[in-house]
Amino acid sequence: MQPIELFYPQLDSPAKVVITMHQKPDGDAMGAALGLYHFLRSLGHEVTVISPTNWADFLDWMPGIKQVIDFEHHREKAKNIISHTEIIFCLDFNILHRTKHMEQPLTDAACTKILIDHHEQPQESAFSYGISDTSKSSTCEMVYDFIVNSGHAGSLSIDMAECLYTGVMTDTGSFRFPATTASVHRMVASLKDVGLRHTIVHEHIYDNFLENRLRFIGYALVNRMEVLYEYNTALMYITRADLQKYNIKTGDTEGLVNYLLTIQGIKFGALVIDRDEERKWSFRSKGTFDVNTFARKHFEGGGHANAAGGRSSEVLEATVKHFKQVIQEYQIQLQ
Ligand code: 5GP
Ligand code: MN
Repeated sequence: MQPIELFYPQLDSPAKVVITMHQKPDGDAMGAALGLYHFLRSLGHEVTVISPTNWADFLDWMPGIKQVIDFEHHREKAKNIISHTEIIFCLDFNILHRTKHMEQPLTDAACTKILIDHHEQPQESAFSYGISDTSKSSTCEMVYDFIVNSGHAGSLSIDMAECLYTGVMTDTGSFRFPATTASVHRMVASLKDVGLRHTIVHEHIYDNFLENRLRFIGYALVNRMEVLYEYNTALMYITRADLQKYNIKTGDTEGLVNYLLTIQGIKFGALVIDRDEERKWSFRSKGTFDVNTFARKHFEGGGHANAAGGRSSEVLEATVKHFKQVIQEYQIQLQ
């Protein structure tokens, strides 16, 4: 993978471009993809955003999202576009299998592939150019840097600003996590200069759920949370029946794991949700406990030091039992 700066000259030659991101794109993945989409279109490129799967309804207000192709629903059309494109941007993931069924079409595409991402341990050999920087708050911050560092700060528009702000806001926990640097605040200041309406973005993302989601959270906190004080750890497990009872959709469980870290003294929060095809784990920590390493070692996952995910093919009870066993290795680290 060559440094991304070497790609900048190609920005001036309009090309066929595909932008993609990890499956079940969150605010950062979708915000980065659409921010880059608006930017590349402003330079005259022919751009298609393809998401590996569907996404949460609370992202549907984003400018450009109606044009995003859901790979799972339009496989043949999406495969055809991927096989004829000249450039593919891969955003907010660094290992092709995080695009689920798109892994093979992406691997087969013999075009220029560009990585912009902030997760640990990138699969560098899969990309022609790229930047991988785990110190960055979000992929949206990196797309902003890409626009500015390539000499196009003057092209920033309100649509780009609102898409990029979404990912910085969601990935920094509304500007509270340690990666919220002075550069992040400078970026937000320049997005404000372009016309960013930040209050509207917060309302779209955080104040836009249905009643059932709030009642589900109450139910889960009362019935599905265990606090393991000897490990300064809180655990929550959600059954398939819970999801059905409260009619829980993609995106409704986002943020649930963060409640665990609001308990005084808790350093490690772990949430497992029984999805149809697998048990999906989310891990969050405060301080030095590295959940990326934990997720890689025990739950086929990865991510960042303080926020990571994983999975299990065991049934829910078995994977919870497994978690309670492996956590014993970390009692000293978690003191
Ligand atoms: P979440 O718990 O919100 O699904 O994921 C937390 C963070 O870990 C996100 O940055 C996400 O991209 C990353 N992540 C989640 N699952 C996986 C996984 O299976 N592998 C890797 N490498 N990263 C993951
Ligand atoms: Mn991200």
